Amino acid sequence: MSNKFKNALLIVDRICKLTGINFSELEILKKPQRIIEVSLPVLMDDGSLKIFQAYRVQYNNIRGPYKGGLRFHPQVDLDEVQALAFWMTIKCAVVDIPFGGGKGGIIVDTKKLSQNEIERLTRAYVRGFADFIGPDIDIPAPDVYTNPQIMAWFMDEYSHIKGKNIPACVTGKPVEIGGSLGRDIATSQGGFYIFTNLLTKIKIKKQDISIVVQGFGNVGLNFAKLAYAASYKVVAVSDSQGGIYNHEGLDIEKIILHKQKTNSVINFDNAKNITNEKLLELPVSVLVPSALEGVIDEHNVNKIKASIIIELANGPITSIASDKLFKKNVIVVPDVLANAGGVIVSYYEWLQNLQHFYWDINKVNISLQEQINNAFYKVWQTKEKYNVDLRFAAYIIAIEKIVACLKIRGI
Ligand code: NAD
Repeated sequence: MSNKFKNALLIVDRICKLTGINFSELEILKKPQRIIEVSLPVLMDDGSLKIFQAYRVQYNNIRGPYKGGLRFHPQVDLDEVQALAFWMTIKCAVVDIPFGGGKGGIIVDTKKLSQNEIERLTRAYVRGFADFIGPDIDIPAPDVYTNPQIMAWFMDEYSHIKGKNIPACVTGKPVEIGGSLGRDIATSQGGFYIFTNLLTKIKIKKQDISIVVQGFGNVGLNFAKLAYAASYKVVAVSDSQGGIYNHEGLDIEKIILHKQKTNSVINFDNAKNITNEKLLELPVSVLVPSALEGVIDEHNVNKIKASIIIELANGPITSIASDKLFKKNVIVVPDVLANAGGVIVSYYEWLQNLQHFYWDINKVNISLQEQINNAFYKVWQTKEKYNVDLRFAAYIIAIEKIVACLKIRGI
């Protein structure tokens, strides 16, 4: 039994002690408002029927409709989905978008399913949860092993159920059916804006930087691509099969082609294969975890050599490890800020869908840059004010906003 949710909540009481926010006001943040669990029957290509367990956790909607991704992964469980939904609540408040937090998941190994089976599974999810989602209620988006095509099936099924086109029911769609320009790489783009901002703040030069990216999916691949295009040295990347390393730097564009051909980054010319564990411990300046939760914990935290960690994955560092990193003066940009570019552009997508008015890529990127940079500066100021790490600072901002809403609205 994992304890991701319990661990995720540890920070809440600590924030109370630091800021003087009333404990009882925060009790409401320690439980999701609603948990929905559905069994999804899906017809397999061979004619058999399989039942998949699926979840949606609607954590809190005091600041706006629930918002959060949909994950397809064999290790999904209710504990994990609750933690992810809690983080979404915090994230939307940190970057000041008018959403609450939610998350969904299905226990499934999509690598063992055909495209047709994944489509039927997605449509079954929408039918199972249709009464609980919608543009003003709860708006899912892509997460691990879900993508724009899956969001397109989602939107199509939901629209069929409601008898009209409702693109704003989900974000991260292909642009042809109401997706936003820039949403595909928004999480990485937002992380990259923050990364360059941080380097300016702490006055580190580009030539002194070496970067490791763990996870080479939507988020990790695009971050590595942006960093490489901006002439940063990316020395190691990895996916679920393992990692590759060359201390002189990797050609990310070639690795993308290699991954397209072979389904993995491993066995790439001019680099040596390493394990995901060793990759995290490389002697580099910047580590960008972009895969799953809990990869840096009390067992490996003392072996981490990077001086900057940008959490593009959700929850890659446990709370014990986070405290140890702070004591070692490692700068950790927390997930609730670093990967918020995705939900920010999801918000723009939702706005565009509701207004039937679409933005060009410049407007998306300028708005994203301004919004995420503002959040970064506020978090940085709060860190200085309370002498805490960036994670604490982000949570202070978010929790103060949520508590203010609670007080104004009344419980
Ligand atoms: P993805 O499915 O596109 O990619 C996941 C990547 O992680 C793949 O390359 C996979 O091979 C790799 N991976 C899986 N297990 C691994 C392991 N044990 N070790 C190393 N690599 C492993 O998913 P994504 O959308 O890129 O999401 C990655 C992380 O970013 C998740 O934590 C997700 O919650 C977070 N996130 C995603 C978005 C988004 O917009 N997609 C937004 C915010 C946060």
